[in-house]
Amino acid sequence: MIKYLLLLTLFFTTLFAEQTILIDNNSTIEKFKISTYEDKTSSLTIKDITSIKEFKEVGNNVSNGFTNSTFWYKLTIKNRSSQTIQRYLKLTESIMDKIDFYIYSNNKMIKHKKDGVGYFKEGQKNYLERPVIEFDLKKDETKIIYIKISSLYPMFNSFQIYDKNELDKFEREYTTIYAFLIGSLLSLALYNLMIFFYTKDISYIFYVLYSLSFISWQTSMSGIYPFDTFLNTESYYFIGASIPLLVAFLTFFTNHILDIKTMSKKYYHTLNFIGGFYIILAICSIFAFEPSILIMNATASFVLPFLLYMGYISYKNGNKIAIFYLLAQVGFLSMSTLFSLSSFGFLEYNFYSRHGIMVGSFIEMILFSLALAYRIKILEKEKFIIMQKAKDTLEINVKKRTKELEESKKKLEILANKDFLSGLLNRRPLFEMSNRLISLAKRDNTIISVLLFDIDKFKDINDTYGHKEGDEVIKAFAKTLKKDRRVSDLVARISGEEFVILLPSTNHKDASIIAEEIRQEVETLQVQIENFNISFTVSCGVSSLKKEDKNLDDLIARADKRLYMAKNNGRNIVVDNDIV
Ligand code: GH3
Ligand code: MG
Ligand code: MG
Repeated sequence: MIKYLLLLTLFFTTLFAEQTILIDNNSTIEKFKISTYEDKTSSLTIKDITSIKEFKEVGNNVSNGFTNSTFWYKLTIKNRSSQTIQRYLKLTESIMDKIDFYIYSNNKMIKHKKDGVGYFKEGQKNYLERPVIEFDLKKDETKIIYIKISSLYPMFNSFQIYDKNELDKFEREYTTIYAFLIGSLLSLALYNLMIFFYTKDISYIFYVLYSLSFISWQTSMSGIYPFDTFLNTESYYFIGASIPLLVAFLTFFTNHILDIKTMSKKYYHTLNFIGGFYIILAICSIFAFEPSILIMNATASFVLPFLLYMGYISYKNGNKIAIFYLLAQVGFLSMSTLFSLSSFGFLEYNFYSRHGIMVGSFIEMILFSLALAYRIKILEKEKFIIMQKAKDTLEINVKKRTKELEESKKKLEILANKDFLSGLLNRRPLFEMSNRLISLAKRDNTIISVLLFDIDKFKDINDTYGHKEGDEVIKAFAKTLKKDRRVSDLVARISGEEFVILLPSTNHKDASIIAEEIRQEVETLQVQIENFNISFTVSCGVSSLKKEDKNLDDLIARADKRLYMAKNNGRNIVVDNDIV
């Protein structure tokens, strides 16, 4: 039993024993172990650290999340080649606060180098680059490097040992890849900015601002901005402001591209409020970076899923653009979650967790661009449909109007020929037609007769019952006149209550009979008005065509004379000659 315990102890001792990194001229060391000690008090000095034995072994990729502790790292490196070699110990991320490199050889400190934004801010450094320290090792020489890191930002980094070539290659590749991605994003932003000037659609501006905030964040964090020196105080401010701005513009962009306003006023105002909140947070972050970043991280965990939800309900509402939006957001969110998890120390720092956000964002921006392009297509389509509809309604309206015009033209024609109240011919067509008929009858030697009717005491009817009721009497009388008439007969209303019937090929005797029939029928007629009846009588003068008659006036004049006689002889009679 004891034997086994001893073996186990031996096993763990070897496992946790500090490894010495052996290097020679050929080897590239990508993965190695490094010892670490967490000083929670942040009070230990390098002297204290050199005597501390309980260092823990970890990989060369570290992610400790947000922490107030100072982390110490220790590397023992031995040159196993036969020549002196020169190397660089480098941290891949620039954003740490204060970094101190100490190099020990034969238990003596031979070099101390300060690095990081913290020293830069305090004015102890005037040039800031990605943290790095140069060291050389003679044949078989062993050196110990201590690295002290205190960071206000998520401690999320990787230690690398490079020779001069590899160091240059790293910077070159890093810059090339980022320059390509950022260049592409800038082109997309520029392209969409131009589309904004063309369409005046505010979504494009929010897209441009969103990508610019992203670019500003990434370039500052990666040390690409400003291009000649690495980090400086400006980029420090840029990082602070660009992250909340990023979320603000993404929120505004979401609000507009998904047309949330037409879907829900409530969500539209909520999104505007969130956007406004992040703009204020961006301003605050310039003055107080750390608390702002903490508020940012805490709230973004709710806001980003909420934006995703907006995409989802917009899609549910039948917005086709939402599918691009959702794809973009899902892609970006999974990448940024990876980034967040590793920066908070839940996932190991590696290529994907570190650069995934850049790639995710690149894909996101392209998908957003596609969504914007699709939006143009949809808007164009809608515009086309609206125009088509307008054209159709215009055509329908024109047709309707033409029809109306034709109808009123017809009505006018009828009105010109017909009396509106009685529906009988009026004076003008009667005279036109009868003159033609008269000349024809004279040539063919046929007879024409004329009946001239006048309603008896019509004034009294108007006075007793009213003008409207008088009209009804006119209508009823007109109907009686029209009844049983031949097609060739002309029935006309020539004035208020005076009527003419022109009977072609009808002799005087037959005309008198017709007149008498009409008179008798009127006598028995009851004009029904609501709940009472009106009865009335008519008088009639009859005349027939004579050789000396020139036109209808001559015939009517003779009939009128007889009508006058009828009136004088008690009314309600037909007079067909000059002797009564
Ligand atoms: P008489 O038996 O002598 O013909 O008596 P009367 O009252 O019919 O004679 P008069 O010619 O003086 O009156 C005709 C009246 O007819 C006068 C006018 O107000 C009325 N009148 C004319 N045109 C219309 C009409 O279109 N509608 C109605 N309701 N009344 C009309
Ligand atoms: Mg009259
Ligand atoms: Mg009358």
